[in-house]
Amino acid sequence: MEAKVFNGINPSFFCIAVNVGSCFEQKKNNGISHLIEHVVMADSRVKRIAQSCHVDAITTKEWTYYLIVDNVPGELYSKLEDFISGIFDSELLSDVVAIEKRIVISELSERSTFSQYYQIINLHMHNGSTYSLPTGGEPEAIYHISTKELRQYYQESYLNGRRIGIYCSDPKLKEMGVEIIEKYIYLSKPFNKPHGGFMPSSLHSIIDSKQTTLVLANLAFSPDKTTKEKMYLLMDYFTGKDGLLQEAVRTRFFLYFFEQICSVYDNHILIGVGTRIKNESVNDYLTILKHTIDRVICSKDMIVDALNNRKKIYIINKSCNIVNLMERIRWENEINSSLTENDEFIDINDEEAKLIQACFDVSLWKTVVFSNQEIIKGLKME
Ligand SMILES: [Zn+2]
Repeated sequence: MEAKVFNGINPSFFCIAVNVGSCFEQKKNNGISHLIEHVVMADSRVKRIAQSCHVDAITTKEWTYYLIVDNVPGELYSKLEDFISGIFDSELLSDVVAIEKRIVISELSERSTFSQYYQIINLHMHNGSTYSLPTGGEPEAIYHISTKELRQYYQESYLNGRRIGIYCSDPKLKEMGVEIIEKYIYLSKPFNKPHGGFMPSSLHSIIDSKQTTLVLANLAFSPDKTTKEKMYLLMDYFTGKDGLLQEAVRTRFFLYFFEQICSVYDNHILIGVGTRIKNESVNDYLTILKHTIDRVICSKDMIVDALNNRKKIYIINKSCNIVNLMERIRWENEINSSLTENDEFIDINDEEAKLIQACFDVSLWKTVVFSNQEIIKGLKME
C-alpha cells in the first residue's frame, strides 16, 4: 500500500486509489469497473456523507479513485469510516446496480468530443490489447453485466489484493484511513510493467458532411520519470497553447476545435492533438502538420532555440482546489510528479531539449487518415 500525506493543503482531503480499471477488463465485461464505481458512490453511507462534503470518483484505465474533501478542518475524521466502508464493504444491491446501469449507459451516450478522441486513439494505438477498451465501458456490455458478476468482480478486484494508494492531507487521516481499510482488505500485489519502446503514432479522421475530425497521437511505453516529463514537454512544445502546431495552424485555418490529449498510465504515456476542421481544409492541414513535424525532426537546433526563447515551460498546474484535486492526485499516482503547494516551473537546458527532440526522432510520428467510409489519405512522416 502506498500512502502519502500532503501537509498544509487546504481543504482537507482523503483519496483512495484502487488498482482497478478498464485495462483489466475484457470486451464482454467492458465497463464493469466504471459501473462498480457508480454503485459504490450510490452506497447509502457514501451518499449520507456526500450531503455535507464533496465526494467524487473517477475510473481510469488502471485506477479507480475515490475522493472526499471537506473545507472544515477536522470534519473528515468522523466521515472516514462511512466513506471507506462504503468503498470496501459495498452491498452492491441489485436495485442500485440496475439504476446505476441506466445512469452509466446514458452517461456514455453523451460522451464529449474529447473522449471520442481518446477512444479513436485507444482503438488504434492499443489495438489488440485491453487498453483499447473504452474506459467508461461499452453500453451493450454494461447492459448485460449481472449483479452476481459485478459482485464477483468486486470481490476479486477490490478485496483480494489489488494495489491500493492513499493520498490525504494530514497524517492523522492517513493513520485512521489505513486502520479502517485494513478491516476490509489485505494488500498489495506487485504490478507487472511490460517493456517496450516508442510506438508510431497515427492520425485518424471521422468525417461527417462538412467537417473532419483528425487525431494525431503518440505513445511511449514504460517511460521512466524523466522521459515522461520530456513527453509532456514535447506535447506542450508541439501542440500546447503556444506550441508549434498551434502557431502554424492558427494563422492559416479557421479552427473551431483544437484539443490536446494527454494521458499517463502506469506503463505508458499517450500524447496527441485532436482537430476539427472544414473538409476543404483537410489537405492543407495535413501538409502543415507534416511540415511542422519535419521541422522538428530535421532541425537539430530548433528545439534548443525555441525553448531558450521561451525560457521556462510551465508543465504542471499545481494550484490546488477541489476541481483539480483529483487531477493532481492522478499526476502524483501515475506520473510520480510531486504534489506540493507551489506552482512549479522547470528550466530546459540544451541536453533536455535534445531529449525532447529524440522523442520525436524515435517515435516517428507517422500518420494514417481514414474516415467512416473510405480511406482518404495515408501520410507517412519519415
Ligand atoms: Zn460515470
